[in-house]
Amino acid sequence: MNYDYDFFVIGGGSGGVRAARIASQHGAKVALAESALLGGTCVNVGCVPKKLLVMASHVRDELDDAAGFGWTVGESTFDWPTLIANKDKELARLRGFYRKGLDSAGVTTLQGRARLVSPHEIEVGTQRISAKTILIATGGRADKPDVPGAELAITSDDAFALPSLPKRVLIYGAGYVGLEFAGVFRGLGSDVTVVHRSAQVLRGFDADVSEAVADALAHRGICLEAKTTVESLQRQGDALRVQLSGGKHVTADVVLFATGRTPNTDNLGLEAAGVKLGQRGEVIVDADSRSSVDNIYAVGDCTDRIALTPVAIAEGHAVADTVFGGKPHQADHHLVPTAVFTQPTVATVGLTEEQARAQLSDVHIYQARVRPMKDTLGGREERAMFKLVVDGATDRVIGCHLVGPHVDEIIQGIAVAMRCGVTKAQLDSTVGIHPSLGEDLLTIRQRTR
Ligand code: FAD
Repeated sequence: MNYDYDFFVIGGGSGGVRAARIASQHGAKVALAESALLGGTCVNVGCVPKKLLVMASHVRDELDDAAGFGWTVGESTFDWPTLIANKDKELARLRGFYRKGLDSAGVTTLQGRARLVSPHEIEVGTQRISAKTILIATGGRADKPDVPGAELAITSDDAFALPSLPKRVLIYGAGYVGLEFAGVFRGLGSDVTVVHRSAQVLRGFDADVSEAVADALAHRGICLEAKTTVESLQRQGDALRVQLSGGKHVTADVVLFATGRTPNTDNLGLEAAGVKLGQRGEVIVDADSRSSVDNIYAVGDCTDRIALTPVAIAEGHAVADTVFGGKPHQADHHLVPTAVFTQPTVATVGLTEEQARAQLSDVHIYQARVRPMKDTLGGREERAMFKLVVDGATDRVIGCHLVGPHVDEIIQGIAVAMRCGVTKAQLDSTVGIHPSLGEDLLTIRQRTR
């Protein structure tokens, strides 16, 4: 049978763009449909704008710490519209880069919402297109819990385009997105309250990380309301009155819901095409990212595996290599490092202490709190937290959890070492870089428990 395309990709985000580009480079005839903006979540309302805002809020720390290093800084002011306009300019540049990559690889890009009408046919607007292989790479979308007045709250998508910096922000949810925005708004000068249902922030992370982050956020003046839910929102003049469980209420100018994300698979024609979905609407795939229909694959956040850009990219790349490149391989979901750009930053790879104890009988923990050198003159009272989880039977490092400045840069190398099976003894015998925060990770000799 003749198809219009060898490969049709639905979604021009991290996973879809990579898969389309690589498949085309392998000689396939490829088209990609994007309903909104090329680059998807990461480029437009995720990793990139988030990190730029985090960087903007860090400037406050630099200004605060400058005096200890002999600087007299004049009166400083911050202008939110300038930051947002400059951020938008950078995102437009990146989108152009994505467009150029697709064009030069020979991918046909269609602007519009795509849906399946059969296992080999896609509709984009009024166009009907056939393809031998189809990739679903439609990402996810922010959830809004079903509480009265929820329509008055924003999600992270909207937070990147607020017209002005809110004076008072209430964030509902203490996962990584909620806490990163808490740090951004606090650093830029807002009063911030974080309301979360669980006892700990960053649920799913190592308990010592959660504790260290909660302490640091509180120290920076962020108000944490644990074991609390938002019951309702009401407009009150220009502000919002937020009713919390337990009878308390908070008044805020902006309420940001950061309670999680759902795979973007509604009205895509997937069920009709025979593609099986899971309970959260995620496309169920095997290790090759193949769905329950032989010629339909899915990658990235719509599969609800590990929702990170480099993972979506690795999955998309593997599909393209496997199906069109004669180089079959699978994306590796083992020992994926990740960072949370709170202030201080969190970086982690491997098992938490709790996970390790559930799996192994002999677990050794090495933990230290250190004062970053810059804080001595800067005058900051924060402590970095380093923790290694070691398999007592083999001495292999199976978990590494860091909280402190620049730990996102430190964890990358540790992740490589852990994938190579590094032991605690090998870390101990590695010469550190002095003076640096990284060397402290190599010198935690004393077992904590
Ligand atoms: P996406 O990038 O979401 O792309 C999906 C695309 O499909 C979108 O452009 C959408 O418009 C399009 N689409 C949907 N339906 C259709 C349709 N029917 N037809 C055509 N097009 C369609 N990850 C990190 O690794 N590091 C970070 O620091 C980080 N920070 C984040 C911060 C925030 C606030 C958020 C929300 C996410 C962050 N992530 C981060 C996660 C990361 O953005 C996602 O894991 C990644 O973008 C997933 O890529 P994807 O290709 O699966 O989907």
